[in-house]
Amino acid sequence: MQLLDGKKISEQLLEEIKADVEKLRSGNKKIPHLAVILVGNNPASETYVGSKIKTCERIGFKSTLIHLPDTIEEAVLLQKIEELNKDSDIDGFIVQSPLPKHISDEKVINAISPAKDVDGFHPENLGRMALNMPAFLPATPYGVITLLDRYDIPTAGKHCVVIGRSHIVGLPVSLLMMRNSKPGNCTVTVCHSKTVDLKSYTLQADILIVATGQTESVTADMVKEGAVVVDVGISRVPDDTKKSGFRLAGDVKFDEVAPKCSYITPVPGGVGPMTIASLLKNTLEGVKRKTA
Ligand code: NDP
Repeated sequence: MQLLDGKKISEQLLEEIKADVEKLRSGNKKIPHLAVILVGNNPASETYVGSKIKTCERIGFKSTLIHLPDTIEEAVLLQKIEELNKDSDIDGFIVQSPLPKHISDEKVINAISPAKDVDGFHPENLGRMALNMPAFLPATPYGVITLLDRYDIPTAGKHCVVIGRSHIVGLPVSLLMMRNSKPGNCTVTVCHSKTVDLKSYTLQADILIVATGQTESVTADMVKEGAVVVDVGISRVPDDTKKSGFRLAGDVKFDEVAPKCSYITPVPGGVGPMTIASLLKNTLEGVKRKTA
C-alpha cells in the first residue's frame, strides 16, 4: 500500500505556482489577485478562509478578504458580487459556503461571472468541464484528478465508483473521471443515498472515490483487493485524548481499508490540501488565459 500524499503534492504545486508568480512579477505582468467573501462566523469556514488567504501570501498572490455579517441581505451580497465581477484588478473570487439559510446558493453561484468563478461552481464552467472545453474545474475534484495524475495512476479502462453526487464533489469528479482525457477514460458508476446494495458496486471498483460525509462508513469488506481509494470526506470526531477534543476522520475506515489498497489518501493530508492548491492554480490559469 502506498499513500497518495496530498500534502506533499500540494506543496509541489504551490512551489510551481510561486515560481510562475515570480516570473510574472519580474516581467512586470499582473500579479494574480484572489478575493474571498466570507459571510458570518462559522468557525470551520473561518479556518478554511484563513488558510486560503495565508497561502495566497505565501505564493505571492494578492488577496482580499471581504467579511460580511450573517444578517446581510441577499440583495446586498449580490451587489457585492457584481462589484467584484466589474473590478478589473480581481482575477477570481469565491463565496465561502455554507451560506446563511436566507441566502440562495443558486442565486449566488449564478451571479458570479464565469470568467472569475475560480471555484468552478457556475453552470457555465460545469457545462464546459463536462464537454472537455477549457473551464475552471471545481477545486476538490481538480485536486483529486491532479493527485491521481502526479502518482501516474492508470485510469483508462478502469472501473471508477464514486459515492456521492453533490454539485461540488461527487458529480463533477464523476464527469472528470469519465472524460476522454488523462486522467479519465474510466467506466464510471455513481452511487448515492438511494443506491440499493452499495457494497455490490464498491466491490467492483478499481478506483473508489468517496464523498458522502458519512464518517468512516466505507469498511474493508466493501473494498476490492488492490483498489485505489480516494477519501474526500473530512469530519470532526470527538476524541478526549486530543487537546482540541476531536480528531479529523474521513469517510473511509482507514486502518482496516488501507492494507487492501494499492493506493489510498490519508485524512488529513490527502484531498484537503489539494483543494486549496487547485483553487490557486485556477486563479493563476485565469490570469494566464486573460493575458494569452
Ligand atoms: P453532500 O452532503 O453535499 O453530499 C453527500 C453525497 O453523499 C450525496 O450525494 C448523498 O446522496 C451521498 N450519501 C450520503 N449518505 C450516503 C450513504 N449512506 N450511502 C451512499 N451515498 C450517500 O457532501 P459534499 O459532497 O459537500 O461533501 C462530502 C464530504 O467531503 C464531506 O465530508 C465534506 O466535509 C468533504 N469535503 C471535503 C473537501 C476537501 O477539501 N477535502 C471539500 C468538500 C467536501 P444524495 O444525493 O442521495 O443525498
